[in-house]
Amino acid sequence: MNTITTKKLHIERVTTSSIHEVDFTNLVFGKTFTDHMFECDFKDGSWQTPTIKPYGPMMISPGAKVFHYGQAVFEGMKAYKDDNDDVFLFRPEQNIERINKSSMRMAIPEFPVDVFMDALHTLVGMDKDWIQKGEGNSLYLRPFAVATEVGVSASPSNEYKFMILMAPVQAYYKGAVKVLIAEKFSRSASGGVGAVKAAGNYGAQFYPTALAQEKGFQQIIWTDSDEHKYLEEAGTMNVFFRINDTLITAPVSDRILDGVTRKSILEMAKFNGIQTQVRKLTVEELIEAEKQGSLKEIFGAGTAAVVSLISHFGYKDKVYELPKVEDSYASSFKKQLMDLQYNKTQDPFGWRVEVK
Ligand SMILES: *Cc1c(COP(=O)(O)O)cnc(C)c1O
Repeated sequence: MNTITTKKLHIERVTTSSIHEVDFTNLVFGKTFTDHMFECDFKDGSWQTPTIKPYGPMMISPGAKVFHYGQAVFEGMKAYKDDNDDVFLFRPEQNIERINKSSMRMAIPEFPVDVFMDALHTLVGMDKDWIQKGEGNSLYLRPFAVATEVGVSASPSNEYKFMILMAPVQAYYKGAVKVLIAEKFSRSASGGVGAVKAAGNYGAQFYPTALAQEKGFQQIIWTDSDEHKYLEEAGTMNVFFRINDTLITAPVSDRILDGVTRKSILEMAKFNGIQTQVRKLTVEELIEAEKQGSLKEIFGAGTAAVVSLISHFGYKDKVYELPKVEDSYASSFKKQLMDLQYNKTQDPFGWRVEVK
């Protein structure tokens, strides 16, 4: 597919900013958007003029394929501000690479990396006053692509929109969570789309998660779709287990998403001299470790919450409580990652990218 565009970024600015209408101390995650958004249409076999324009509703036909077949992919990333008002992204090349991988799986044309990077830097730079300083505050960036061609015939669209929205957010901290290990439902299946950020993966997860919530859990630990034997992900995050002092996480596969937070934690653990194992872990082994007292921590890892500590897990009508550890890996990784993201420490990994 032709994904070349040589067109220059076109910019239309708002006449008056709506920033003064926003209460930055009471933000609901992802509900408030900044003044501008990015939009680029794909038609006649190529991406058209990349445009930054005022954020607002748009006209789209009810016959657009995205509404009928869910041909849609997205990303989640953040921009951070340090104490000197300098703005940073975290490993943004990973996100464009991954949305293109997601697009390929969903038969959506890939988006040119250079156009994405230029648009992202310009957009974040234009609305950087929307980024609040201070621990936990950030600008959540939501790139996405949807099928816009009109027609309910079941075939890939010939037209798409690639967009980026930006939402100021506060720390996504809800306290330690209780999770239920899945015995029946699956988030993803072998050969399916679980390894990419296809919009429908999330839609399909809402119902089983709501059932778990009725039982008093906040999230589900997803197990493999074939036997429900191996631990795979926690909610919409990758999941880590600490048994004694070894950090264990499942290998990425066609059912497990290759998270940027996951791979960053694995590299940081090695840097810190922590023993890591990337291997399959069974539910049985987890319960055995809990009984032996060697299970010390379970935590989720993803861009939105960074690291999310798990306090209890449920399996087959039993609830297991995790111990409170003094030298928590979860807290340590969260702090190290945030210090890197907020330009508080050296970046030996080369992950931080300044927005100029
Ligand atoms: C987005 C996502 C993650 C986390 O990825 P990050 O790059 O760390 O934000 C993990 N699992 C699933 C299923 C996801 O969709």
